[in-house]
Amino acid sequence: MTASEKPILIVGGGIIGLSIGWQLLRQGFEVTILERDTAGHSASWASAGMIAPHAEAGFEDMDLLKLDHASLEAYPQFLDELKEDTGTDVVLDQRGTLIVGLDRDDTLWLRRLYDFREHLGFPLEWMSGSEAREKEPSLSPKVVSAMWLPKDAQIENRELLTALRTAFLNKGGRLLEQCEVTEILVKDGKAYGVKTAQDQIESQTIILAAGSWSREIPGIPEVLRPPVRPVKGQVMTARRDESCPLECMIRSPRIYLAPKLNGRLSIGASTEEKGFHTIPTIGVFRDILDEAWRAVPSIYDLEIEEFIAGLRPGSRDHAPIIGKTKLENLIYATGHYRHGILLAPITAYEIIKLLKGLPSELLQPFSPNRFLVKA
Ligand SMILES: Cc1cc2nc3c(=O)[nH]c(=O)nc-3n(C[C@H](O)[C@H](O)[C@H](O)COP(=O)(O)OP(=O)(O)OC[C@H]3O[C@@H](n4cnc5c(N)ncnc54)[C@H](O)[C@@H]3O)c2cc1C
Repeated sequence: MTASEKPILIVGGGIIGLSIGWQLLRQGFEVTILERDTAGHSASWASAGMIAPHAEAGFEDMDLLKLDHASLEAYPQFLDELKEDTGTDVVLDQRGTLIVGLDRDDTLWLRRLYDFREHLGFPLEWMSGSEAREKEPSLSPKVVSAMWLPKDAQIENRELLTALRTAFLNKGGRLLEQCEVTEILVKDGKAYGVKTAQDQIESQTIILAAGSWSREIPGIPEVLRPPVRPVKGQVMTARRDESCPLECMIRSPRIYLAPKLNGRLSIGASTEEKGFHTIPTIGVFRDILDEAWRAVPSIYDLEIEEFIAGLRPGSRDHAPIIGKTKLENLIYATGHYRHGILLAPITAYEIIKLLKGLPSELLQPFSPNRFLVKA
């Protein structure tokens, strides 16, 4: 950074903004994060913290799968660096995913997922219901089939967010909370800063990482705004005890259970088009709990800690939007949809490459410019 350069501005202090900000500080850049609320307490907080590219692989998402894998591989380094900067050991829990089928329809669905993953060469195993119960004794006798994916991981996302915030501050970052960006300042095809309720701050680099709100901030011409919308996800947390000793992530076609090493159990999640509505609703939890209980009956007596809803930033094609925009000085890091926790390390590492003028092959398919209508 030259003496005349002002700190890089990051709009939004979720997992994406915090990860990029902290990694930029490690590279010697100066960084200010502007966060409307409290950093880390939006979608990233509600998330189930699964780092599960093998369970999540979609049939048409080869570029995303590559990015997901690169991020899974980057996680150990990311967490080592976090420990260096905070002293906190956030553990990557690598106990895998078991996807279960509860009837014949589920089994056919599961077989399709299995064949696709086998074709891609993923490590995996097909299991009968009883084999699955040998692996995970808490499963219901109703489970008739399963697919074991040993390489998927998960993390306690709330510990990760707390550590990222600490790392950002320890490395000298400036974190402005309760500080809403009300406009991205743009003139002559260039972004040159942001306006907040209190102030106007100028910079030669602005990174928009405002999750589901990334499209809503005034200033950027309509056609260049990232096509991101909020996709509501409701999830609940229970406290696990010896009556429910789950060892790995469990999924069915409709729900998942993510048991954290510290005893927290995330059970989710809905996928709803409800705009910016974030209040939990009874019907959704009735359905989630019914299915979760059918798969793992011993959740019945667990104590509930929380019902929560978050907004996944979903882009038009459900892939992230990361990279330089048509406006000079403005970079997008948004649209991470269901994969923001998984993709945080690779997003941060690849943005650094961009800022250093290095090419990023991985990011090419996720350029913000893919949405521009060609004349
Ligand atoms: C129920 C649920 C379960 C999920 N499970 C998983 C999972 O298991 N694994 C996974 O990888 N992903 C999961 N996700 C997705 C993941 O949580 C998101 O992709 C990720 O959190 C997005 O991070 P973000 O930093 O872009 O957004 P956010 O965490 O939403 O952060 C954006 C921040 O920007 C701030 N902001 C917005 N507007 C402004 C403004 N004008 N000025 C200043 N600040 C502003 C907000 O206050 C917020 O703090 C899940 C999501 C949900 C809802």
